[in-house]
Amino acid sequence: MSAADDIIGIDLGTTQSLVGVVESGFPILLADGRGSRLTRSAVYYGTGGAGPVVGEEAWRRRVTEGGRTVVSVKRLMGRRAGEAVGAGEEGEQGMLGGVRVAEGTDGSMGVVVEGQWRSPVEVSAEILRHLKGVAEAALERSVHRAVITVPAYFNDAQRQATREAGRLAGLTVERILNEPTAAALAFGLDKLGGRSKVAVYDFGGGTFDVSILELHEGVFQVLATHGDTRLGGDDLDDLLARWLAEQMDGGAGGGWAGMSALERARVLEAAGEAKVGLSGAEEVEVRLPFWRGAQSFTRLVRRGEFEGLIRPLVERTRGLCRRAMVDAGVVAAELSAAVLVGGSTRIPLVRQVAGEIFERAPDTSQHPDETVALGAVIQAGILGGALRQVVLLDVTPLSLGIETFGGLMNVILPRNTTIPARAGEMFTNAVTDQVGMRVRVLQGEREMARDNWTLGEFEVDFAKGPKGSARVGVQFEIDADGILTVLARDTRTGRDQVVQIRHAAVDVSEARVEEMIAQSVDHALEDMVERQVAEAEVKSRELLEAVRGALPEVGSALSEGERARIAEAVEEVEQAMAAGELGRLKGANGRLDAATERLATLLVERAMDEALARRLEG
Ligand code: ADP
Ligand code: MG
Repeated sequence: MSAADDIIGIDLGTTQSLVGVVESGFPILLADGRGSRLTRSAVYYGTGGAGPVVGEEAWRRRVTEGGRTVVSVKRLMGRRAGEAVGAGEEGEQGMLGGVRVAEGTDGSMGVVVEGQWRSPVEVSAEILRHLKGVAEAALERSVHRAVITVPAYFNDAQRQATREAGRLAGLTVERILNEPTAAALAFGLDKLGGRSKVAVYDFGGGTFDVSILELHEGVFQVLATHGDTRLGGDDLDDLLARWLAEQMDGGAGGGWAGMSALERARVLEAAGEAKVGLSGAEEVEVRLPFWRGAQSFTRLVRRGEFEGLIRPLVERTRGLCRRAMVDAGVVAAELSAAVLVGGSTRIPLVRQVAGEIFERAPDTSQHPDETVALGAVIQAGILGGALRQVVLLDVTPLSLGIETFGGLMNVILPRNTTIPARAGEMFTNAVTDQVGMRVRVLQGEREMARDNWTLGEFEVDFAKGPKGSARVGVQFEIDADGILTVLARDTRTGRDQVVQIRHAAVDVSEARVEEMIAQSVDHALEDMVERQVAEAEVKSRELLEAVRGALPEVGSALSEGERARIAEAVEEVEQAMAAGELGRLKGANGRLDAATERLATLLVERAMDEALARRLEG
């Protein structure tokens, strides 16, 4: 695979983003210089127009320089003024974190950073540019093409905005992919049969989405999607932070309302860490050293307490899932799978509630915060050809065969043969004392070998002998991975020749398959004529060879007239061959056949006489 074909897959998340690529047939997510695969979707704009900083560093600066740091910009993508925007983490209207949300001159919503209006496309482009850089550093080559995921509920304007952000970042966006579809791909749900229906429950950092998908001929369709743009991990952090604030100073410290922005940020950070800790442990200790001077704040938080706090939020996902199922016309029991996506599904209570909603133990085989990105990478791999499309793998898209006498295509495995498959045929030498045969492996639907594609070729040699004495078996075998093995065996010597042809046999782009079939239809008539001409020519050559061999042996027994008739017919065949006209060839072959009738009889008689004589001698 050449570098120019690389397509990266990107999960452009509200709170976190990831990038990956298919390397040597495997989808992988790429780590940045610090070894992290997760990039905070935060952009910090420095003073005096200093280049923006993206990721963890920007995320940290939001605390001290909230007015310069844009977070959750995805909430604004493709939004017009007047449309609801999920409120910022402080819960204030018209704010996104520490920056003000404002209408641009074109009526779209953007952010104001240090007095300058910036579009969400522009801010998202910074994140995408950063991810492109992460990929290029990891791969040590440049990339220009990408698949980017968006929520299923994104409308056309929001998808266009995402595409535009990619373009600004120097990426050709090959596809905008729905996040639930990406997740389903990552879980391998495209391999479910028939019209399977699946649920994707995505509880991320900023939003909750549930989608019901239906698989139709290997492609997912979104039957229904519901969600809440104000329900994510950030909101859980917020709840826990406010609760912790009430615990401080025995509740006499003024609580959340009495805190400075910096203090709130510290408590929020501690709450986030505690939340993550509680997914694995029954209790965690929250510590804030030097909280308000010399005094430290310490508080043990038990999982039960945390669950009590967040339960009302988690319960809200129940109604949304139920609505999605009603809209899609399914009940939980009819779903072939229900997968959990998004970092917040690591929370035991969330898993439990999701399990109750979908009436099954949730599938936790994938990292929830990496699933969407992994699906984007898989889709990118399929588009770029780095991953074989499993759907196409189970039949041969085009016929496979070898070239035989007269330059004809001899089909061994016809088009649409289910794989794995095996088939073979026996071949012989066309001329006396031929010492080898060239096996040219062909793919395509045309009658003449030269109009098909050559997948490989090799030489088989065999023992010298009269025409038709060699026996070469040619066998084609395609395994489940689509690898074609061609074996040619001289059955007299037992010698084998084997070539392996990787993937090419089944891995043909749909466009190329269509083109080949269209050509075979367009040329059907001329191809048929050409095949008949080639066959007639093979017959002519056989006849001429036979006549030339017999004349010196038994020709003297023929009359002058018979010899003249044969000479005339031979000349006619030679002329017809030179002209390559089907009618003339057939006629000439027929006349030569007739003219040599007595010659053939004489030959047979002589052979019988010789055999008899040998027997008498013996
Ligand atoms: P998005 O796609 O919305 O950006 P993600 O799917 O990446 O979000 O999820 C991020 C959220 O997951 C954050 O709120 C983070 O705190 C939360 N999260 C990550 N790991 C855990 C964990 N172990 N327990 C609870 N929450 C977690
Ligand atoms: Mg997400």
